[in-house]
Amino acid sequence: MIDFLFHYQKNIGIIKSFDSFGKVEYYDTDENIRKRYNLNFDDKMKKALIEIAKITISEELEYNLQGIYPRYDVKTMSPSWAISDMLTGIYFSIFYMRPGLELYRKCENPNCDRWFLVKTTSTKKKYCSSSCSNSMAQRNHRKRKKELEKRNP
Ligand SMILES: [Zn+2]
Repeated sequence: MIDFLFHYQKNIGIIKSFDSFGKVEYYDTDENIRKRYNLNFDDKMKKALIEIAKITISEELEYNLQGIYPRYDVKTMSPSWAISDMLTGIYFSIFYMRPGLELYRKCENPNCDRWFLVKTTSTKKKYCSSSCSNSMAQRNHRKRKKELEKRNP
């Protein structure tokens, strides 16, 4: 990681600051940074960055899964998990995500801000529920009807 940061700052630019949204500021103009980035951010650098990202993800997950304990539920005679808090629960759901098979997608209904889990093979699914899908179908129908009326008064 230190090696990567050394080469990144030596060959592309010295980092002044960065925020949690990924915005990076340098001690140089954006134009100069872009030029050096295009010249020096090669496959070797990309590969190193991906390796660092993978290590970071696994360490972040493993650290935040410490609040999970196996429990045996004698009422149902089945195994379960005790989860200490909400954040741990969120990390636990990431832990069980299967990349390449499932992903979270934002509902395309502008009046809804839910995210839903989709299989990557079902690329057509746009809405979280049938009610969002129906309301958008109605909305699009009304919009088309209005446009048609505008064209043919
Ligand atoms: Zn929705």
